[in-house]
Amino acid sequence: MENAPRAAVIGWPVKHSRSPIIHRHWLKTYDLAGSYDRLALEPEKAEAFFRSFSSSGLVGANVTIPYKETAFSCCDEVDETARVLGAVNTIVLKDGRLLGSNTDEFGFLGSLDSGAPGWDEIGKTAIVLGAGGAARAVVWALLSRGLTVHLFNRTRKRAKVLADRFGSGVQVHEFDDLPTILKTVSIFVNTTSFGMEGQPALDVDLSPMPGSAVVTDIVYVPLETPLLALARHRGLQTVDGLGMLLHQAIPGFELWFGHRPQVTAELRSIVLEDMAWDEKLGEA
Ligand code: NAP
Repeated sequence: MENAPRAAVIGWPVKHSRSPIIHRHWLKTYDLAGSYDRLALEPEKAEAFFRSFSSSGLVGANVTIPYKETAFSCCDEVDETARVLGAVNTIVLKDGRLLGSNTDEFGFLGSLDSGAPGWDEIGKTAIVLGAGGAARAVVWALLSRGLTVHLFNRTRKRAKVLADRFGSGVQVHEFDDLPTILKTVSIFVNTTSFGMEGQPALDVDLSPMPGSAVVTDIVYVPLETPLLALARHRGLQTVDGLGMLLHQAIPGFELWFGHRPQVTAELRSIVLEDMAWDEKLGEA
């Protein structure tokens, strides 16, 4: 077992990351030698750590907040998605070179494909709320499936910067335009922290949306956000944010441990159980 591959999630702080639960479940399920840990990396050590990653003893890692841009700048090579998003969340050592990728787009699409199969055939217009780091991956994913994106964000300037990055497929709007644009879309995506535990709920009237539309929220605590509850009552298809978290882990696991894992109902319930524990501890 001494030479078994070791991977980790690297961030600051990192103790709330659910990645170890996911990867350890897969290691056990597929009976593979290897380990996956949490690595809390102090900000002043981050750049040097990534630059000398080959001496860390790890085969690769997930990179989380606040190091996705640092890792991006320290990789010897990055894939197209990481380059477009300007951020790396998965790294692997290959022949002494540090390769970086970004699997958020893959995770978002994997979640929709399994939660609402055929979602990208319903129509070709999307609404995205938010213009932060996660929105970038979501917009890129929607464009990759040929959809046009209508983007809304509290800070219009930030939305404009995101839209400019992607070209004419992304149009920025004022919130006053939302009811009109809702009538035309096949998918509505929330990427803001609205609806997250401890945050205000999103105040939106979904009634103008076509009955065939899909509503998805990338927030997954709580699993059913007020937005998803609203959409369910309206009879719309919904996809929660947990699927994105689970699916984005697939490529890293395959790179480090050599086996392409599956997102299963069992994995979902293990992660949900862990979330319930956190909630209980929070109440105690
Ligand atoms: P971020 O870069 O900080 O962006 C946050 C976004 O939310 C911005 O568009 C921000 O608008 C908006 N926002 C925050 N508070 C707001 C408020 N009170 N009113 C209006 N808008 C508000 O964060 P991120 O990395 O994109 O993450 C966003 C959410 O996605 C988080 O809840 C995160 O947990 C979740 N997420 C989930 C997954 C998954 O796998 N399911 C992956 C990544 C992220 P401004 O630009 O105006 O500030």
